[in-house]
Amino acid sequence: MARQMRVAWMYHDIMDLYGDTGNMMVLRKRCEDRGIEFVLDTIGIGQEADLSAYSLIFLGGGADKEQMSIIPDLLSRKENIRQAMASGTFVLLICGGYQLFGRYYEAADHSKIPGLGFYDYHTDTGREGARCIGNVVIEANLDGLETKIVGFENHGGQTVNVDEPLGKVIKGCGNSFDAGYEGFYDGRILGTYLHGPLLPKNPEVADFVIARSLQKDDPDFKYTDLRKLDDVWENKAREAILSKLEK
Ligand code: GLN
Repeated sequence: MARQMRVAWMYHDIMDLYGDTGNMMVLRKRCEDRGIEFVLDTIGIGQEADLSAYSLIFLGGGADKEQMSIIPDLLSRKENIRQAMASGTFVLLICGGYQLFGRYYEAADHSKIPGLGFYDYHTDTGREGARCIGNVVIEANLDGLETKIVGFENHGGQTVNVDEPLGKVIKGCGNSFDAGYEGFYDGRILGTYLHGPLLPKNPEVADFVIARSLQKDDPDFKYTDLRKLDDVWENKAREAILSKLEK
């Protein structure tokens, strides 16, 4: 069966920090190496689109001002996003994008930006001027796939009330100062503070996202159905970072 991964990259021209674009490049390469057709559509403000037609919705990070600028458009798509998630579209969210799927985001100037409110988590601003900045390592369990995820965080927002975190922090802050936990994963969305970009540094997570996305068209598709790729350089890079950070 010819497989296809269709990605809706939301606000690609606004929400794109610390190399988030690299995530899309990695998904394309890892799909095409396996003969999986990869279709990438960018969805900007005001652009008509049915998000439920896609296998994956991707939303990257952004500064407070950028997050504010997309809110009217994002909220206008709330029902369509809900419908997409209910029909098996997987969602990958980085930092600012992750924050906006919760109840609200309180920006550094204390203005409150409403989120989509799909989840009860919410994001408050931290102590005056304090930000979580630096390299991060977490231990995650993605539907049985145990993996260490490495990345880079830079956020003022402190996300609390996260009932299903993505992983346990080994190095760095995660959802908030001293949270001990990072991100959110509930089987429908994977939200994380990890830029870096996330997927080039973590090929197992990239393949997990591909497998979950392909389940939109074929619910029986499994992570182990993906042909293994030669990740020798990716793994060397990971090992180099991990050995530095875990000291
Ligand atoms: N503006 C948000 C914050 O500072 C998100 C930043 C980001 O996406 N890196 O918390």
